[in-house]
Amino acid sequence: MILFSLFFVSANAQSEDSLFIRKLADEILLNSKAYENLRVLTKQIGGRLAGSPQMVKSEQWGLKAMQAAGAGKAWLQECMVPHWVRGGNDKAYVLANSSKIAGKKPGAKKELDVIALGNSFGSIKPLTAPVILINNFEELEEKKDSIKGKIVFYNYKMNPTYVRTFQAYGEAGQYRGAGPSRAAKYGAAAVIVRSMSHSTDNNPHTGSTRYIDSFPKIPAVAVGLRDADWLSDLLQKGNASVTIHTHGKFLPDTIGHNVIGELEGTEFPNEYITVGGHLDSWDNCEGAHDDGAGCVQTIEILRAFKALGYQPKRTIRFVLFANEENGLRGGNKYADEAKAKGEKHIFALESDAGGFTPRGFGFNVSAEGLRKIQGWKNLIAPYGASELTQGGGGADIGPLNRTQGTPVAGLQPDSQRYFDYHHARNDVFEAVNKRELDLGAVNMAILLYLVDKYGL
Ligand SMILES: [Zn+2]
Repeated sequence: MILFSLFFVSANAQSEDSLFIRKLADEILLNSKAYENLRVLTKQIGGRLAGSPQMVKSEQWGLKAMQAAGAGKAWLQECMVPHWVRGGNDKAYVLANSSKIAGKKPGAKKELDVIALGNSFGSIKPLTAPVILINNFEELEEKKDSIKGKIVFYNYKMNPTYVRTFQAYGEAGQYRGAGPSRAAKYGAAAVIVRSMSHSTDNNPHTGSTRYIDSFPKIPAVAVGLRDADWLSDLLQKGNASVTIHTHGKFLPDTIGHNVIGELEGTEFPNEYITVGGHLDSWDNCEGAHDDGAGCVQTIEILRAFKALGYQPKRTIRFVLFANEENGLRGGNKYADEAKAKGEKHIFALESDAGGFTPRGFGFNVSAEGLRKIQGWKNLIAPYGASELTQGGGGADIGPLNRTQGTPVAGLQPDSQRYFDYHHARNDVFEAVNKRELDLGAVNMAILLYLVDKYGL
């Protein structure tokens, strides 16, 4: 009898939840402003790297968008950000010094489609050197005595057998992050990295590199996949020299901001839930999937909660983070200030994996917390995010987890196309599908509603 009534109570709660969740989903699927917001952010502002004029414009846009969505309070949280500039057009070409390049006369150039890595230092003048093909770090170590004075071409391929592309990106990403300094350690003059992508086009993909101060900060570019294959073939047949000309440099740090909107909690106003994406993007694209999508989904959840008159029990913060791509200063500032003010952050959610069809959420939470979340599966799964698994989060909310152990989660959309666009010139508004974008917001809103109502 007792068991039966317990079942009855929980079944009632479930049906009450499923009714509200249906309303929440309908509100977003019928009235979402996410796609139009994304159009304005990408087409009217465009790429918005930390320190750029577009960064300032996007902060003002974000503040207005939070207010328009109905934030009880909205403000800019100041943080210093690095100011790296590309400084010009990145170029690289192979000189046809013999008839080795099919279709090219001796003395002709074969241009490579390249882009300098973020935070890399330019060559200033054109730099010409023989290229050495290096397929992985083991090979770099084997050939360390042949590196001096050469351009190291890391041709490490993302592993196509991993169904989850982020796993392949995680492995390949170290060639972009650590590759230049590891090559500089053995005297390399510059580095060319195969772009981190499975794409069939030739667009080069940028992203941050991390120099180690004890080695020379050598120029570094990423090359498109077709050109990477072509160069690799050429080097397997014989020697080749490449000329690289890049201009990257740092200007003094400048003032940037996280954009924050807030809905105050009615029962536990001192317990905070954060949801967000990052407002900055690389300069070579519109930053539509990375991470305009996460920003407009965040604003959309706020709009939908307000439109339905939903009053959260806990305080929900909607945050567009500054400088994720090449510094993480926004995420660090947010966590530092939360700690300094003694705020208790019980959960944080980020969308920074593209505006594609939601498949699930990855969590960094206790086993007990995960069991509680998995108990909500039948409420969330009908909207797409059925995989609720351990392992995940987001770069900008990582600092909250590190400073106060806040459980974190990341939206996990279908990942098959993300690295076709990530940090490349084709990451534009047109690459985002409205329904997929809206469904991401729907699933995030549902998870937030459940965490707000039941805690973690
Ligand atoms: Zn991102």
